[in-house]
Amino acid sequence: MAESTSGDSSNSNPTPPPAPVPEHKSWADVAEEEVAEEANAASASSTAASSLNVDELTIDEKKKATKFLDEPEDSNIQAVTSGDTPYNSASTFEDLNLSPELLKGLYVEMKFQKPSKIQAISLPMILNPPHKDLIAQAHNGSGKTTCFVLGMLSRVDPKMQVPQALCICPTRELTIQNMEVLRKMGKYTGISSECAIPADSRDALPISKRAPIMAQVVIGTPGTIKKWMSFKKLGVSRLKILVFDEADQMLAEDGFKDNSLRIMKEIEKVNPHCQVLLFSATFNDTVKNFVSRTVKKDHNQLFVKKEELSLEAVKQYKVNCPDELSKIEVIKDYIFEIGENVGQTIIFVRTRNSAKMLHKSLVDLGYEVTSIQGALDNEERDKIVKEFRDGLTQVLISTDVLARGFDQQQVNLVINYDLPVKYTAEYTREPEPDYEVYLHRVGRAGRFGRKGAVFNLICGERDENLMAKIERHFGTHVTEVQEKNVEDYKRALKEAGLLQ
Ligand code: ADP
Ligand code: MG
Repeated sequence: MAESTSGDSSNSNPTPPPAPVPEHKSWADVAEEEVAEEANAASASSTAASSLNVDELTIDEKKKATKFLDEPEDSNIQAVTSGDTPYNSASTFEDLNLSPELLKGLYVEMKFQKPSKIQAISLPMILNPPHKDLIAQAHNGSGKTTCFVLGMLSRVDPKMQVPQALCICPTRELTIQNMEVLRKMGKYTGISSECAIPADSRDALPISKRAPIMAQVVIGTPGTIKKWMSFKKLGVSRLKILVFDEADQMLAEDGFKDNSLRIMKEIEKVNPHCQVLLFSATFNDTVKNFVSRTVKKDHNQLFVKKEELSLEAVKQYKVNCPDELSKIEVIKDYIFEIGENVGQTIIFVRTRNSAKMLHKSLVDLGYEVTSIQGALDNEERDKIVKEFRDGLTQVLISTDVLARGFDQQQVNLVINYDLPVKYTAEYTREPEPDYEVYLHRVGRAGRFGRKGAVFNLICGERDENLMAKIERHFGTHVTEVQEKNVEDYKRALKEAGLLQ
């Protein structure tokens, strides 16, 4: 299979001011891709939902083997199907008429037994003619990747060596991760694929000097894809399926809206029947309203009720810390000590500077941690993620570059060193939490129904207000853990199912 060897020039964004002032956002050229990677999704304002008939779809919930591997129990998905195309949800992968090569990929490589709920409901809509567009929302960790990867692999004609499926993702990490899933699942299909991300080496051949892309599936970030298209190296005239992962961010005003729309329009011009799939765990009302208008009129939709979005599987806690130093003490003396053997941990910070400072403080104290943020060069980013994936590192500090989509089943603990705040917040008196980013961060633990816990480190009145708003928004109570009470932390981890 082809590997990406070409790419864009690497970015060099200026070091941001310390928290809480958000990083300067530049909308120019390649820098846009990197900066917007850490941007948050747009804020919500309520608008009326679709007036189509809403059918509650249920699937056969056979007794599951182990409680530990359950899907989120609140996965109550509402489907709005357009027209009169009947769809039956699939209780087995065989129900989907997949090729024997794909079935083998699912069972042998992926070791999946049966479709998750979102897969059971969405796959018949994706795979069956007339291949309508689909907007699909489902919980973090519920298996959305498989929906669109199977969609892409099934729709590609193996005999035609041209790009037929295109998937656009917000970050290079998610691109690489989705590509790994596609190559594993599609191992026996012989389908070729290529990543469209900024080059991992400065001496890589520029796109202008490269041969046109022949790979049948292309997965990439919007800046690079747009660039390849404008250099006429990525032809889209034979494209059958276009996917946006983390679609709400891809189409949000303060996300990748401009690039995504440009790519979509370009494809539409030459290829009006290309199927468009939009996937995310979050679609706030503004984005929901907008995306419904960007896809074809007779599209199908799947949505989760807002109040059912917070993942019950991941227990949420808050710790009041008098100052920054005590946040670090809470992490090392309590969470690391007590949670030593509970799995891997991601610590989310708001800014690149915060990532650097926390990293330095923990390393100076003798802890082995790594950190990732958009300002690192690509090789470094890839290396840090790989080490974490391989289990060589247990603790990863990250900006919101990994808040969405990152799938590592061993992550059981998430620490919000800083709470996520909307980028517009600096212009308002009272900062607004970024609810979507909060949900996505929490969703890095508890993958596919596994257990998990999140500790929110609260410092001062500002954070208290933010936390209260988050609790109100999701209608959940976040239990307080006393800063210096060992028993409290133990109780919390036990309650989360992470300690005996
Ligand atoms: P999402 O994109 O919905 O957040 P992912 O697609 O990343 O979730 O899937 C989360 C995890 O669940 C992955 O590790 C994936 O391998 C696993 N998974 C997905 N579908 C199944 C299935 N049908 N059976 C078992 N595990 C699954
Ligand atoms: Mg995902």
